[in-house]
Amino acid sequence: MPINNKNIHPIHDSLLNKEEKEAQLNQKAITIWMTGLSGSGKSTIAKHLERSLSNNGFITKVLDGDNVRIGICNNLDFSTQDRIENIRRISEISKLFIDGGIITINSFISPTIEIRKMAKDIIGPESFFEIFVDADLETCEKRDVKGLYAKARKGEIKDFTGISAPFEKPINADLVLDTNNLTVSQSVEKIITAIKNKITY
Ligand code: ADP
Repeated sequence: MPINNKNIHPIHDSLLNKEEKEAQLNQKAITIWMTGLSGSGKSTIAKHLERSLSNNGFITKVLDGDNVRIGICNNLDFSTQDRIENIRRISEISKLFIDGGIITINSFISPTIEIRKMAKDIIGPESFFEIFVDADLETCEKRDVKGLYAKARKGEIKDFTGISAPFEKPINADLVLDTNNLTVSQSVEKIITAIKNKITY
């Protein structure tokens, strides 16, 4: 819960606003929010998407689950409460970036409808583009890039999404990428086609 903030006076009104920053950077800023199981391909797609957007002159920032968990969220675990706080912090950070005109590419498991709704509410629905990176648990477990599924199956990791913690599929994602069947570059192409109008100034 927020602590007493009656003595805090944000100065938003006197700062350069989002529109001014966007004009300066010649782009529109949104958050591209990727949700999906561990190993579904979020970080890999984010990396390639950033490269591709950058090659076309867009200024972006990738925000990634593992990166924030070793930094700004290093005091949080994977309990429901801490997952909410993790996503709340990252949503506030995303908002700061897009207020600065920068496109953010976010890869976070963000496992529940409620958690993604919170992110969308903080960032603002008009700036939030939700992508469901949809690979079957079986596919993710077979990839097991980080060896986490094996550990979770042995009970060495608790609250592991898909195994011992829930993943609620998005019902109304702006885009669904079936990474069981799409290549990474096909996924990137699909994203660029879908967001082009939203990021072009
Ligand atoms: P996440 O960020 O969702 O946990 P990662 O991107 O870290 O997932 O891991 C996905 C792994 O699956 C990577 O090693 C990637 O190379 C591999 N992979 C294989 N096929 C695909 C595909 N079609 N789309 C995305 N990733 C794929």
